[in-house]
Amino acid sequence: MIFALGIDLGGTDIKGAIVSSDGEILRQDRVATEASNGADAVADRIVSLATDLLDSQGASPTEATGLGIGVPGVTRADGTVVLAPNLDWHHVPFKSKLQQRLPGMRVEIDNDANLAALAEARAGIGAGCDTLVLLTLGTGIGGGVVIDGSIHHGASHSAGEVGHMTVLPGGPLCGCGKRGCLEALSATSGMLDHARQSLEAGEKSTLSDVGPLTPKAICDAAHKGDRVATKTIDHVTNYIGIAVANLLNVLSPDVVAIGGGISAAGDLLLNPIVASARTHTLEGLFESTTIGLAELGNDAGSIGGAYLVL
Ligand SMILES: [Zn+2]
Repeated sequence: MIFALGIDLGGTDIKGAIVSSDGEILRQDRVATEASNGADAVADRIVSLATDLLDSQGASPTEATGLGIGVPGVTRADGTVVLAPNLDWHHVPFKSKLQQRLPGMRVEIDNDANLAALAEARAGIGAGCDTLVLLTLGTGIGGGVVIDGSIHHGASHSAGEVGHMTVLPGGPLCGCGKRGCLEALSATSGMLDHARQSLEAGEKSTLSDVGPLTPKAICDAAHKGDRVATKTIDHVTNYIGIAVANLLNVLSPDVVAIGGGISAAGDLLLNPIVASARTHTLEGLFESTTIGLAELGNDAGSIGGAYLVL
């Protein structure tokens, strides 16, 4: 059987999996990242996790086609992590650190959202498709672009920043320092801000009675027909739909996958996103693309890591 190791390096946990060539997880485990101990210690923990996984599968390192790692940050083609805020890494030559520890094994590294997109294109909602764009909705909006079955890195090696498409010039300030990015409007804080503004304007809503306002509370209230919640969902999904339409107009992908924590709301978000995308896409370009929910959830990162080397 052909298999590879996929590692999803996060700020809190390192998730590892042995993944078969058809995208099936054969075995998986996780350890704490302990990023404060530095990049060398993290590399040691990844090697130890990978070795334990291979041992438990009764496999030797030479049997795996390689080890692919997703990092929550900006990476370069040479395997340097330029910036990973959650790990407090700046210009860490992480691929070479792992290669030193795993002589003879192929090691590849990429941005974690890119890997999630690759996983969805190979084994998730887009299984076997050529071109896919993933948008992950959460505290930020990340994503990745797969073209002809491979991650599209572009000239900067950092392509795929779907959350920083300008969808409302002069709009709310984004974490990146610009205004009107999709992320500023439609990620968690944009969603909460919109609901809060309606409540502060005195609009009646069941959301006035809930504890801390969360995306889930808003989605639950919208399910029950709450007007402020419904308006908030309409507002957020309208801008996501505009971003999706822009992607369709430029790339005409086979699939647009919507993932991330907020996407757990399912059709409540998906249907208005599709409606907005349909409104804003050039005629003749809309029907060829499937817009749907990502399928691999929290496993997408490690499955994508494995596909880097499968
Ligand atoms: Zn931005």
